[in-house]
Amino acid sequence: MADRTLRVCALFPDLMNIYADRGNLLLLQQRCAWRGIGFTLTGAGHGDEIDPDGHDLLYLGGGQDRDQQLVAEDLATHKRDAVHAHAARGGAILAVCGGYQLLGRSYELGEEEIPGVGLVDLHTVRHDGERLIGNVAIEVDLPPAGGIGGRRVLAGFENHGGRTHLGPAATPLGRVLKGHGNTGTSGHEGILHGHAVVGTYLHGPLLPKNVWFADWLVARALGIEEPLAALDDTLEDAAHASARRAAGV
Ligand code: GLN
Repeated sequence: MADRTLRVCALFPDLMNIYADRGNLLLLQQRCAWRGIGFTLTGAGHGDEIDPDGHDLLYLGGGQDRDQQLVAEDLATHKRDAVHAHAARGGAILAVCGGYQLLGRSYELGEEEIPGVGLVDLHTVRHDGERLIGNVAIEVDLPPAGGIGGRRVLAGFENHGGRTHLGPAATPLGRVLKGHGNTGTSGHEGILHGHAVVGTYLHGPLLPKNVWFADWLVARALGIEEPLAALDDTLEDAAHASARRAAGV
């Protein structure tokens, strides 16, 4: 496995990085290093080209509405074709919170509608009512990669004003066990699309709290089917248990 390298590109890392997005990237880097998998990280900001064949994982982090307004146009026009081509050839995408909202068709903010990159069948509407905030746990059922898959619990934290409505062609990432999820009432959280396109409202240290999910993503991105080398996850398992306890699951 030593000759493998995970090539990550963070989209708009200066604007779409609310909460722990940088930490999620560091976690991927460290777990690759521990396993002898190479790791490269590049960023693509406004006006930058994305090489559709140059990355294994695109990362689009969280952002406030105003950050999303700043990046949406560039993402939906300049970067659109490359993001679609990347996903079509099986490249992985992790999009969190504000980034998740921009994976879809559009984000309605009152009178204004900002475009999404149109990769997945969803749209988001900013709600006047309460923000959906709190610890959250969802049950996912993932296709296998790296010896990981099946039914597992993802635990994290959500904080969003938008309500995300999945279209008929969309598969949610998981079933809400505790918390709000996509709309607060649908019972669904996130989206799972194609080979490895994941959108989720679970932000903050999503990957440090769910290292098995980080491993799944790496394996999926690199097309690794065989079990990944085991690591000492004593601390990481404790972090996961603590996140689940916080959500009451
Ligand atoms: N601006 C979005 C919302 O509030 C996403 C917020 C975020 O990324 N935390 O719905």
